[in-house]
Amino acid sequence: MTFGYHCEECEEAIWSTAPRGELEWLRRREHVAREVAKHVQGGLDTWIVEGLDFLDHHSGHSVVLTRRA
Ligand SMILES: [Zn+2]
Repeated sequence: MTFGYHCEECEEAIWSTAPRGELEWLRRREHVAREVAKHVQGGLDTWIVEGLDFLDHHSGHSVVLTRRA
């Protein structure tokens, strides 16, 4: 099972190797993750960087957690 984010407005999605719970955390705590990101330049896991990029790009849109088999 692969989890990811889906923007309902743009019909775009990204898929991640991270477990569902971590993606849910990132989406809910996006502002916290961004604060952390400022202080650990280059030390973030790829899925966090990619997730934040996606959430940033779709800021204000309806982004949902999604999955595929
Ligand atoms: Zn969007």
